Amino acid sequence: MRPPILNPLFQPASALSGIGPRLMKPLTKLVGGRPEARVLDVVFHIPWSMIDRSAMPEIARAPHGAIVTIKALIDRHRPAPPRGRAPYKVYASDETGELELVFFHAREDWLRKAMPVGETRYISGHFEWFNGRPQMVHPDHILTREAFEAMPPVEPVYPMTAGLAAKTMLKANDSALALIPDLPEWQDPAWNDRAAWDDFSTSLKHLHRPQAATDLEPNAPALRRVAFDELLASQLALALTRHHIRRSKGHARRHDGRLVERIRSALPFSLTPSQAGAIAEIRADLDRPDRMLRLLQGDVGSGKTVVALLAMAAAIEAGGQAALMAPTEILARQHLATIAPLAEAAGLKTAILTGRDGQKARRETLAALESGTIDILIGTHALFQGPVEFKNLALAVVDEQHRFGVHQRLKLAEKGNAADILVMTATPIPRTLVLTYFGDMDVSKLLEKPAGRQPVDTRSVSMDRLDTVRDRIGKAIEGGAQVYWVCPLVSESDVLDLSTATSRFEDLQGRFGNAVDLLHGQMPGAKKDEAMARFQAGETRILVTTTVVEVGVDVPNASIMVIEHAERFGLSQLHQLRGRIGRGERQSTCLLVYKPGLGETARARLKAMRETEDGFRIAEMDLKLRGEGEILGTRQSGTPGFRFARLESHADLLEAARDDARLVLARDPDLRSPRGEALRVLLYLFERDEAIQLLKAG
Ligand code: ADP
Ligand code: MG
Repeated sequence: MRPPILNPLFQPASALSGIGPRLMKPLTKLVGGRPEARVLDVVFHIPWSMIDRSAMPEIARAPHGAIVTIKALIDRHRPAPPRGRAPYKVYASDETGELELVFFHAREDWLRKAMPVGETRYISGHFEWFNGRPQMVHPDHILTREAFEAMPPVEPVYPMTAGLAAKTMLKANDSALALIPDLPEWQDPAWNDRAAWDDFSTSLKHLHRPQAATDLEPNAPALRRVAFDELLASQLALALTRHHIRRSKGHARRHDGRLVERIRSALPFSLTPSQAGAIAEIRADLDRPDRMLRLLQGDVGSGKTVVALLAMAAAIEAGGQAALMAPTEILARQHLATIAPLAEAAGLKTAILTGRDGQKARRETLAALESGTIDILIGTHALFQGPVEFKNLALAVVDEQHRFGVHQRLKLAEKGNAADILVMTATPIPRTLVLTYFGDMDVSKLLEKPAGRQPVDTRSVSMDRLDTVRDRIGKAIEGGAQVYWVCPLVSESDVLDLSTATSRFEDLQGRFGNAVDLLHGQMPGAKKDEAMARFQAGETRILVTTTVVEVGVDVPNASIMVIEHAERFGLSQLHQLRGRIGRGERQSTCLLVYKPGLGETARARLKAMRETEDGFRIAEMDLKLRGEGEILGTRQSGTPGFRFARLESHADLLEAARDDARLVLARDPDLRSPRGEALRVLLYLFERDEAIQLLKAG
């Protein structure tokens, strides 16, 4: 149950003054909140800059283009002529000169009321010298003396959206700030004293009413305070999850290496040193009575699947079953195709479970799973949905973890009897991000790529030269090459995006006929499999696709990747895509086709792609160029991102939050002390309260 003290913040934003039902939609779009904006979302939506209205020059000395506040006497009105587009004008003056105020589509009654002739007004806005004459078009404020004195000299400016006026936003914000309760202090008093921060509520209010431009910089005390609160909430939630997993007693699993050896000798290659190292670490974890919670990090193509397979084999040696959860249907099937023959060679039985199985097949699989006939179960999130019972799940492997939430990870783990957990991520996530999104886990890294990998020749090509690209591809497929042609898919419901892939398919089919195939997310599952299988078998030579191939697909003969509208993709995404090629004998080429007129960031991304294939360097660069949420693809999975914390600036706070969370749980694992109770409020405030359920579950 959410602490009642937070209720004012969790009510719908329609409670705020000026926010009627009509404005809820643009407001929700602007500040977020599901399904509609809440007061909380409004107070967490902080200004990104401010307007300083403290400059009060005389008219003749006002600088062109500046925001100023001018004290002037209203002299006369000159209403707009009835027809034509001439504006309504008002003239005002001080001792130094005359100021022309210009209003388009004006309402005369309102203007006359706001500026009665013969009275003094404080007029604030963007000042210009127009043809040598002082002018202000649509002043921001026209104030009486009293109103002027009440106005703060510095005005916050919020990120805005269409359909919502800045003034409305300010007013709503005023009433939202009044609803922020005084909350119990959840930070360690000693730490708080040292940092010399105000409490959460004061800091948040300060951010909404900055006094100087420096107040909104990432390292301003108020922002650091709320960022630290946010990071602490997330680290505490992760620590609780980890604690929960660790607290449920694990098993020392006796494995003798016989299955691992048999599979290893069936492999057509020898393991890289990193692969061997990771497997040794995992086997050591299995030996220990604690539950394993390990992250296997390796760049795309570094060979994580084999590590997973050998880890599963070890768990099976110990008498258990293993499960492998993949984020997509295609990937689950591909894992099955890779793993099943190798597993079979060692006498292991493999099966697949996805959302697409028929009733009968599903029943059979479930029965075999429960009786223990199935050793390895591969699947999508269907693995933990519904009544899936293992006889004895010993190891759960989660591939491409960042698409799953903490919650899903736990659910799969709960299927077993204190199952060990191995999480694999293809995105080479920088250390700070590992900490942010996964918390403190043991990490194994695959540092080198398997031997025999060819570097990929990466080039950018302007859209104008598409004909040349087509010609080159024609030659390459005559020589036996295969080609991925990726079209952008910005949002999965976007019909426009889909048409790029479809029309490119038609275009290429016109030239290359049946050698071309199409694969996209909206196709029925079976059709996707067929298209993938045809490409894998070499029946088709060009696969036009959307980002469904981004994750994990393995066709070693494919050596060319064309990425259309490369400027629309993120850097890590481009890197993931490129990782699909360079896997076989052929010299591989990646063509980044861009639309001319590149922005600065897009240009930097394409340059980075040409310059390096090092996934870790790319991830660091991506973090600089984009903001952290997008690297992990959290947009797709809907994992809540961060509202205040910016990892580029707050990495030190992240480390501190991690340490603090660890300490808290060591001293007060059930969050029952006064500080513990306050920390519960913090978890609810930042909506990390899922972790609180774990406290109850024990
Ligand atoms: P990822 O880490 O991206 O999931 P995969 O597990 O899909 O990588 O492996 C990529 C390719 O490399 C596969 O074709 C796999 O068979 C191959 N591979 C894995 N390990 C080795 C190795 N040690 N030597 C040679 N090829 C390997
Ligand atoms: Mg993979």
